[in-house]
Amino acid sequence: MTRKAVALISGGLDSLLAAKLVQQQGIHVEGINFFTGFCVEGHTHAIRKHDRKRAKRNNALWVAEQLGIKLHIIDIVKEYKDVVINPKHGYGANLNPCLDCKIFMVRKAHEWLQQHDFDFIVTGEVIGQRPKSQRKRLMPVVAAESGAADLLLRPLCARNLPPTLPEHEGWIDREQLKDFGGRSRKPQMALAAEFGFEGYAQPAGGCCFLTDRSYSVKLQDLWDNRGNREYELDDIMLLKVGRHIRPNASFKLIIAREEGENQFLSGYKRQFQTINTVSHAGPLALIEGAALDSQQLELACAITARYSKGRDADSVELRFSDREKGSRMIRVKPLTAAQINPDWVIV
Ligand code: SF4
Repeated sequence: MTRKAVALISGGLDSLLAAKLVQQQGIHVEGINFFTGFCVEGHTHAIRKHDRKRAKRNNALWVAEQLGIKLHIIDIVKEYKDVVINPKHGYGANLNPCLDCKIFMVRKAHEWLQQHDFDFIVTGEVIGQRPKSQRKRLMPVVAAESGAADLLLRPLCARNLPPTLPEHEGWIDREQLKDFGGRSRKPQMALAAEFGFEGYAQPAGGCCFLTDRSYSVKLQDLWDNRGNREYELDDIMLLKVGRHIRPNASFKLIIAREEGENQFLSGYKRQFQTINTVSHAGPLALIEGAALDSQQLELACAITARYSKGRDADSVELRFSDREKGSRMIRVKPLTAAQINPDWVIV
C-alpha cells in the first residue's frame, strides 16, 4: 500500500528537499501552500518596475513542478489573524509570530490530512536554523500543540529527533533522512546539487513580510492609530507598497515610489481619496484616515508634490479626488526635504 504524505511547501529550498527525501522513498506526496496575506512570494517584485528583470514565478508552484506533485494553495487570511494579533508564544525580532505560525500551519495540515486520508505531514524545518522557532526544545512544542504529534516528520533533521510514526512503522527508512542543524545552508545546497535542483529561491530572511523590520513598524503604526490590532487583507497588502507618511494622527499618505507602484495603487482609487500631480510628472498618493480639513489637504498635497518632478518648482498643481465628492485642482508649493519631518515617515 502506497503511503501518502502532505508536505508544507513555502517555496524555499528546505521544503523542496524535505519533500524530495520522502518522495524518493516511494511515498505519494502532495503539497500545501498557505496564503496568509503576508507572503513575500511574487508581490513587490511583481509590482516594482526596477525588479522586473527578476523572474516572476510563484516559488511554491515552481517547487511543486520540480517534484511533479499536486499543490494545494489554501487561503488562511481570516483564520491567521488571530496568530498575528495574539501569538501565545510571542513575536520574534519583529512582528513575526513564527512559533505560533508553525503550530497553526501544522495544525491546518493535520486537519487536511484527516479530511483527505493521508498518513503523515512533512516540513522543511531544520533545528537551529531560525533563532527562535526552530530551536531543538521547540520542535516537540510544534508537534504537540498542533495535534500532529508523531505524524510530523522533518526529513532534514529527523536523525537528530526521536523517531516518528512513519519511521516506527517502516514507511520511511530513517537512515535515508538527514541530521542537518544550525544556520549553515551548505548541507542543503550540497543536497540540492545531488538531486540536480538549480535555480531555487534564495532565502531572504524569512518567508513572510512579518520578519521585515520596516514592514512591522508600519503594521504597528496602523494598529496604534486605529486603537486596535485588527486588519483587513487590503491593509496588509498596502503596507508592502509605497512611502508611508503620517503627518499627524488623523491621516496617512501612501505615496507611490515608482511607476509599478503607481499602477498598483491606482487599483485602490475607489476605496480612498487620492492626490496626483498634474503640472509635473509625479506619484499617486492614497489618503488613509478621516476627512481632511483644507489645511491638512494642503499639507498632504505639498508632501506629495515633494516627491514629484516639480519638487524644486515654485508651485505644483495636483488633483484631489474623492469618489463621492468628485475632484478639484489644488496648487501648492512643494515642501523642501528639510520640511519633511523625519517623524512623519514610517520606516
Ligand atoms: S517567517 Fe512568517 S510565515 Fe514564516 S514561520 Fe515566521 S511568521 Fe510564519
